[in-house]
Amino acid sequence: MRAHPAPAEAGVRRALSNPVSGPHPDGSDVGMQTKDVVVIGGGVMGWSTAYHLLKEGMSGRLVVLERDPLRRVTSTSLAVGGFRQQFGTEVNIRLVRDSVAFYRAFAELMETGQGKPDITMRQNGYLFLGGEQTWPTLVRRHRLQRALGVEVELLSPAQILGLVPEVELSGLVGAAYCPEDGYLDPHSVLLGFEAKARALGAECQHVAALGVESDAHGIKLVKTTAGTIATRVVVNAAGAWAGEVARLAGVDLDVRPWRRQVYLCRTPLPEGREFPMVIDTTGVHFRSETGNRIVAAGATASDGPTFDAAWDRPAFEEVIWPALADRIPCFDRLLLESGWAGLYDDNPIDHNAIIGCHPQLAGFFLINGFSGHGLMQAPAAGRALAELILHGQFRSLDLSALSPARFAKGELVVEEAVI
Ligand SMILES: Cc1cc2nc3c(=O)[nH]c(=O)nc-3n(C[C@H](O)[C@H](O)[C@H](O)COP(=O)(O)OP(=O)(O)OC[C@H]3O[C@@H](n4cnc5c(N)ncnc54)[C@H](O)[C@@H]3O)c2cc1C
Repeated sequence: MRAHPAPAEAGVRRALSNPVSGPHPDGSDVGMQTKDVVVIGGGVMGWSTAYHLLKEGMSGRLVVLERDPLRRVTSTSLAVGGFRQQFGTEVNIRLVRDSVAFYRAFAELMETGQGKPDITMRQNGYLFLGGEQTWPTLVRRHRLQRALGVEVELLSPAQILGLVPEVELSGLVGAAYCPEDGYLDPHSVLLGFEAKARALGAECQHVAALGVESDAHGIKLVKTTAGTIATRVVVNAAGAWAGEVARLAGVDLDVRPWRRQVYLCRTPLPEGREFPMVIDTTGVHFRSETGNRIVAAGATASDGPTFDAAWDRPAFEEVIWPALADRIPCFDRLLLESGWAGLYDDNPIDHNAIIGCHPQLAGFFLINGFSGHGLMQAPAAGRALAELILHGQFRSLDLSALSPARFAKGELVVEEAVI
């Protein structure tokens, strides 16, 4: 592992104030471009960071590199789209709370000459069903969430039926319900951030980053399939591929792909029947989709650390369908229409975001490791990273608990509410 120690995070502005300019120092590659910030990865994290950098007043040249313009594997576009403040750690609750406020204003904030994006945001709530084993955890989390101002309630079995009359109550002690939680359309979020960031001056290149080189000051250049870009600041926003991009830069980052399956089904219920996001005690969960459809997901045997996002249809019949039909008996008449698989950006150490400058490489900023809950944190996470890059400190929300330096210090942020 190469080591060009990062400055203390309070001093990261030096990376921007010490730009690379002119031709490469060794005189080669005269056609080399120069950018103030290179963002590797055009998913929601890359575009949220780009938008917030420009919105916060960055005046330099910013480019986002994306090698998958059709978004065939971009996790953002394959996400289920749920958002919830029902987490078990303060930093996650605050990240989502700020992000939900942002999403509520998304259409206005992202308006461009092309109009306002519609992210079809629904605040139908998240309903975490609690059995004998999980109920004490829900009660503990509820205390923390309430203390932080989240409008979460503990429901009795009778109150569960008031919300979702089709639920089979056997094995349930109660549920935790937050009506402000819900779901939205992930791909529209991505397109909204991208359009606005481009309107503010961001450039996008549909190329792959192949190498990231550094010198005594830190980051020096990025090699791509279309040439070389001199820069002092790289944002690693490569999602499930973030560990690979860190390796290109010669540093370690433990972020791995983790395959997850999603199923789109037609239900026997009337058209337009909307549910909260229901999380069963098995972990299998579902939300409403257009018509009388649901989108369902949960852990299956095909989950695992692979870059192969193959869809596993049989896993629906083996695992997901039985759990759904046990909890909502009329779901024994579901029609599986289609589905897909995508890759979580898994941080296997504590399953939480990693936000900040890499401790061994000045100018190499990370916004990675969201472990399946990135979409719901992207607005506040991108804003925080932009503040750190531009001002050397977090201003709106203190995310120092999520610093990449926490691993060496043993200060993990253990989140039990990961689904
Ligand atoms: C099935 C599934 C369901 C999910 N459901 C939810 C949910 O309900 N709620 C929620 O909040 N989150 C959910 N998530 C998680 C969420 O999708 C991610 O946390 C989030 O989208 C990560 O965004 P990102 O921008 O970091 O990664 P991505 O969206 O994957 O973007 C990274 C981009 O980097 C590009 N890239 C990688 N390497 C290079 C390179 N060398 N050069 C150029 N480009 C490169 C990739 O092509 C990719 O487009 C889900 C994820 C999956 C897979």
